[in-house]
Amino acid sequence: MFGYMGRILRVDLSAQRSWTEDLAEDTARKYVGGVALGATYLLGEVLPGVEWSSPENLLIFMTGPLGGSRVSGSGSFCVVSKGPMTNAAASTQANGFFGAFLRFSGYDGLIIQGRAAKPTYLFIHEEGVQFRDASDLMGLGTLKTQETIKSELGLRRKGSVIAIGPAGENRVRYAAIVGDGGHVAAHNGVGAVMGSKNLKAIAAHHGKLRPSVKDPTNLKKKAKELLEDAKEFNNRRFYTWGTNSVFEPALKGGWLPIKNLTTNVLEGYEKLLPEYTRAHFEHKPRPCWACSIAHVKHVRVTEGVYAGLEGEEPEYECVAAWGPLTGNLDPGAVVMLSNLTDDLGLDV
Ligand code: SF4
Repeated sequence: MFGYMGRILRVDLSAQRSWTEDLAEDTARKYVGGVALGATYLLGEVLPGVEWSSPENLLIFMTGPLGGSRVSGSGSFCVVSKGPMTNAAASTQANGFFGAFLRFSGYDGLIIQGRAAKPTYLFIHEEGVQFRDASDLMGLGTLKTQETIKSELGLRRKGSVIAIGPAGENRVRYAAIVGDGGHVAAHNGVGAVMGSKNLKAIAAHHGKLRPSVKDPTNLKKKAKELLEDAKEFNNRRFYTWGTNSVFEPALKGGWLPIKNLTTNVLEGYEKLLPEYTRAHFEHKPRPCWACSIAHVKHVRVTEGVYAGLEGEEPEYECVAAWGPLTGNLDPGAVVMLSNLTDDLGLDV
């Protein structure tokens, strides 16, 4: 089957057991993309009365048919589960490398059931899965957890780690799963579901397996066209300034959240604009798998109270939340709070 690895990895944390299942071609054709595929398993296997924190709930990680290809953004994965904010079906997505590396280990998706008896993390590779003790990782932030696991497994750039922080461990209902630095699968508390399963993290190896492509030449051509199209989007503002390029249009359009949504007037916001922070702070590109847009940046704050602080450049949602929504106009504080939120494993 072109475009797929053709296998789903299943893990039962209660029994410390894993196995693989074939992905049927008619299922893959009918439910295209990670969300549709994940929802099929969730609806088929999790009964209506099952609580989000029950071992019977599934935590599903899925990729789509372009996952791990040369198309920009194809390192993405989605998480499907029953989430704590609604106790109903949830889907959320993150970029980075994990989706591509899951496929390079041989799997289109990973379906987790049960609850581990002690803190555990999984290492997924071409030969299968290792269940590893995560007791020493409990309480660590998502960034330190990623760093520690990569070092423990000797992965460096040859692996991707997604993890929960203290928020997920303590089942905060808006806890997120964070990986590859600060890429966040945030919505409907999927980090709390992971915490309820006593699962601290999942590492995927950059293996040698690849999904088969029917027409590689045409895919390369289409990937280039998609990239050029994405670059031109919104008069190249996203490509040039990242997601925070919508800050000023949001303010002018009256939909920027300001002071807990009590006003749409904001004075002195200029330092929160990407035109200011990109000109004054130091930035280095940190692209995801195969991405030539590379909007993700490593940032070093160069002025103000937080001068010297390093982390990931905040996305628009973080700038809005830790800036105008809370009444803060210091862009250095936005960087600090945004990275702290990612490290704790919280949705913003
Ligand atoms: S760098 Fe930005 S645009 Fe590229 S895949 Fe990652 S999140 Fe998407």
